[in-house]
Formats: sequence, C-alpha cells, structure tokens
Amino acid sequence: MIKFTPLNMSLDTAIKQHANTKCVVFACKDSFMLYFFRIIEHDVFTIYKPKGTMRWGDINVWLNVCSEDPYEERYYGMFLEHTQIITFFNKYKNRLSVHEKEILDYLIENKIIVKNGKYYRSMMNFGFIINNLSTDRIHKTVDGSESIVRHEYSHFLFRYEPKYKRAVNRLYKSTTAEYKQNLKKRFKIKQLGFSIEEWACYRIAQAKFKSYDKYLTKACKKEMNNLIKIFNSYYN
Ligand SMILES: [Zn+2]
Repeated sequence: MIKFTPLNMSLDTAIKQHANTKCVVFACKDSFMLYFFRIIEHDVFTIYKPKGTMRWGDINVWLNVCSEDPYEERYYGMFLEHTQIITFFNKYKNRLSVHEKEILDYLIENKIIVKNGKYYRSMMNFGFIINNLSTDRIHKTVDGSESIVRHEYSHFLFRYEPKYKRAVNRLYKSTTAEYKQNLKKRFKIKQLGFSIEEWACYRIAQAKFKSYDKYLTKACKKEMNNLIKIFNSYYN
C-alpha cells in the first residue's frame, strides 16, 4: 500500500523505493490541469509547437484538437517514464509555472533529479504516477482511486522491473489463441488500445477482464497466480 504525505493543499505525494528505481506517486486533489497539462502533453504538442514553446493559452488549441471534455476529466491516472519528465524540465526550464516548479523542487529535494550545469538530469531511472482525484465524477465511474494507482503501478513495473515484465509475457504466451482473440475483441468494444502491458494493468489492478479467467487453462491459472504474487510483493 502506498502511503502519501501532503505536499500542499492540492497535491499529495509518495515515493516507493526499489532496488535500482524509484516510483514517484502524485495524488492530485485539485488543479490537475495546472500541475500536469504541460508535463503530460508536451511530447504530443510538439506537432503544433515544434520548439517547446507551449504556453498556457495553448490549452484552448489543445482542447479543440484533442478533446471536447474539460482537461481535468480526461485522465483517471497517468504513468510517465523519467525520460519524459527530464525532457520536459529541460525544455521548459525558463518558463515553469509555480505548479510545475513545485514538482521540480520536490524531485530535486528527494535527489531524484539534479541540476548539472545548465541541464537537469535524473539520478536514477524513475517512474512517475499521477492519480487524478480532482473531479468526483471520475471516481464514481471507476472502481475506486486505489485501483488507479495499482493500474499505473503495473505500468511502472512492466517498464522498470524485468521480473514482472517476464511474468506478464509468460502468462500471455500461455493463453490459448481463442483467449487472445476474444481479449482483443473485448478491448475494441471498450474502445481501449490493446497491448499486453495494458491488459496486465487492467487484469491485475481492476475488476476488468477478471471474468475471463474462467477461460484460462489450469497451467495459465498457475501463471496468473504467480503474476499476482509478484505484483503484490512489489506493491505491498
Ligand atoms: Zn494503462
């Protein structure tokens, strides 16, 4: 279980230490957009603003192109790799908002990021999880905010812990062709992009696709239990 400490009125944070990596978790109770809009979108936004000059007014451009929903309601949670975070802070280092600066300061204070001459660099590989608690509507529609953290944590493990990734791949490989086919269909119906990584996140962290376990062979079920055990050994 991840324990949070409050950073200020609208952001809680926790760091989960692994052997060679750290998982930084933010729970955002308010101002999700002000903290994370540019950090999350700067990669994609280079299509419209090639030189890394995204300004706050650009949110209107972004919303027109990408979404009709308010930004605060667009994501339940989010996982980012450290390379995306470092790229963002280097690109925007002279134009950070107070909210973004707060996140940067926290990462520096905890010796996750360091300033080396003109540029920031990471002290280690780290994952970055955001749990968006800023609108109630979101959390009434899914099975609780803890399942969001678990989902994103499964992304973290898949990217940074080879043992977990191997177990996920082994499980998927052990399923039948028919199971794989049905799974992909189900993802399509739910309008989710399919990947083995994403499937593991939904199966491990949330109730989605649990009912599919009845189609698993005995050997598969063993692999599934093994995977859940590995996940819990990191998470708990
Ligand atoms: Zn996901």
